[in-house]
Amino acid sequence: MQDIIRLLPDSIANQIAAGEVVQRPASVVKELLENSVDAGATSIKLIIKDAGKALVQVIDNGKGMSVTDARMSLERHATSKIQQAADLFTIRTMGFRGEALASIVAIAHVEIKTKRKEDELGTVIEVEASEIKKQEPELVKDGTSICVKNLFYNIPARRNFLKSNPVEFRHINDEFQRVALANPEVSLLFHNNDQEIFQLEAGKLSKRIVQLFGKNYQNQLIPCQEETPHVSITGYVGKPEFAKKTRGEQFFFVNNRFIKNSYLNHAVSTAFQGLLKDDYYPFYVLFIEIDPKHVDVNVHPTKTEVKFDDDRMLYGIISASVRQALGAFNVTPSIDFNTDVNFEQFIQRPSSGESKHDRDYSSFRNLEKDQRSKNWDNLYEIAKREDIVTPEQIEKEMPSLEGEERTFSSVINHTPTAFSQESRVAKTMRIHQKYLVKQVKSGMLVMDQRAAFERILYERYLTRFSNKPGFSQSSLFPQQIQLSPGDYTLVLEIKNEIEKLGFKFEEMGQQMLVIQGIPTELSNCNEKEIFEELLEQFKQNKTELGISHQDNLCRSLAKRTATLKCKSMTDEEAEKLIDQLFACKQPNYTPSGQPTFTIINLAKIENWFSP
Ligand code: ADP
Ligand code: MG
Repeated sequence: MQDIIRLLPDSIANQIAAGEVVQRPASVVKELLENSVDAGATSIKLIIKDAGKALVQVIDNGKGMSVTDARMSLERHATSKIQQAADLFTIRTMGFRGEALASIVAIAHVEIKTKRKEDELGTVIEVEASEIKKQEPELVKDGTSICVKNLFYNIPARRNFLKSNPVEFRHINDEFQRVALANPEVSLLFHNNDQEIFQLEAGKLSKRIVQLFGKNYQNQLIPCQEETPHVSITGYVGKPEFAKKTRGEQFFFVNNRFIKNSYLNHAVSTAFQGLLKDDYYPFYVLFIEIDPKHVDVNVHPTKTEVKFDDDRMLYGIISASVRQALGAFNVTPSIDFNTDVNFEQFIQRPSSGESKHDRDYSSFRNLEKDQRSKNWDNLYEIAKREDIVTPEQIEKEMPSLEGEERTFSSVINHTPTAFSQESRVAKTMRIHQKYLVKQVKSGMLVMDQRAAFERILYERYLTRFSNKPGFSQSSLFPQQIQLSPGDYTLVLEIKNEIEKLGFKFEEMGQQMLVIQGIPTELSNCNEKEIFEELLEQFKQNKTELGISHQDNLCRSLAKRTATLKCKSMTDEEAEKLIDQLFACKQPNYTPSGQPTFTIINLAKIENWFSP
């Protein structure tokens, strides 16, 4: 019998490869835009018709191609971007597989016009299903224009598989946004059916974000920046109150390449913990710069998935930098962390019982900016030993904190702290029994006493689940509560958790409970009332927020307690709240997202009184 295995002709091989690289018009958009970026273009124009089904054209002012290169670019595995296997580990360009153009020309009508600056004449090539129809020298502009018409014209099954124009357009828009975000220094134009969708001037990332997503983003961006010897993180996260119900606006770029990575996404979410309602997703555009040898981008043809050799370390760093950003943003840059009121001392280290990440984070916040980056090496080590790290080790690895007070004292058993000493310089004022006002370097700090207290209590309650349960104050005259059958079942369901917070009770049967103790900080309050209010708040949160029982209980109790105790708070106790609040992991908001304080800039105040 004859041998039957044959090598496929290139045209068929390319069509098959195209199946992987080009799934829809948006894939063509992505590949062409990235090629233009790789070619060093400073201005790129994207023109589509019929959501890319009829036409995708990309025109750039990049370096262009020689006659031979123009022809070569259409071959499979033809690339100018890598030469040997080792180059795979130093990739800085978007492309490197040399598959895109070969794939695209296999399944569409393509016209390429290209010219290098140094050449008199450019080249025009027309291709259909990998077959060169025309190649001629021609007078064309510097740069490259690639015009892709009738995508999948020769693969009806693929063409029929395409979605409606609005859906395909959305995919294209997504790709455009990613390239636009990754390259704010490139000016970009986007037209659909002769209508202008975007005209983006070159500029800073923040400007690009606003141009892409709208003016209202202007005041919602919190800069995020962290340098470490191995990785740098830059970009923006959205303020918590700006979070949306959809995940759409979350962007990670690794060495400028857009990636999807749920693990790293989780790192950001962790940093936002306690600041967002459930099912709300924060906005972020974060750039991770990392030595290419630690990243494998070669895991998927469309390259939105990458592999890191140490993603746990990256997780820790991302989470820490986002927390850092969130913690610092409300304290405007003019309030220098190192001068005047010395905000650094506000931010004290929680006692050693706190969870690992918090310890890292808080410890870092205590360091001067440059010291902080020097200590990243330590964090790497810590991240690697996550399971076995102890508070003592952290102490040892963060040596610059000596001599500082490290109280995370309760509001009730408050010990004097750095800020109280500082307050000899800047006095705190309490107004209307509701707000605390204090002079700070850049102007005036105004704090909502109740909101601040709620945040402090919430974080304190949370630790009762991870550490020691709260102390309970036994009642002299235990009170009975009669509950509805529904509430009774609910209470039994969360009994364990309630007791960790410091409540003690016993079931008497017939939906009757006896309250024998309440958390010590609530002594002198009516046990029955508190218990009922806690339950009420818990149920309300449960339907509205859908959060975990523990989180819900902490939020509920913090809210009730803050409201109740604020009324009877002495001036002195209230004053200590400032100190307490800035010792929190997330001082800016209550768990439900209400701001706890604001800073009125001196310039603004001056403005009020200028003639
Ligand atoms: P890759 O980008 O992976 O190298 P492509 O098939 O996308 O593979 O492109 C093949 C080659 O064609 C590129 O390596 C590059 O040299 C050249 N090329 C493609 N598009 C452009 C462009 N817009 N400007 C200049 N050169 C280009
Ligand atoms: Mg390419």
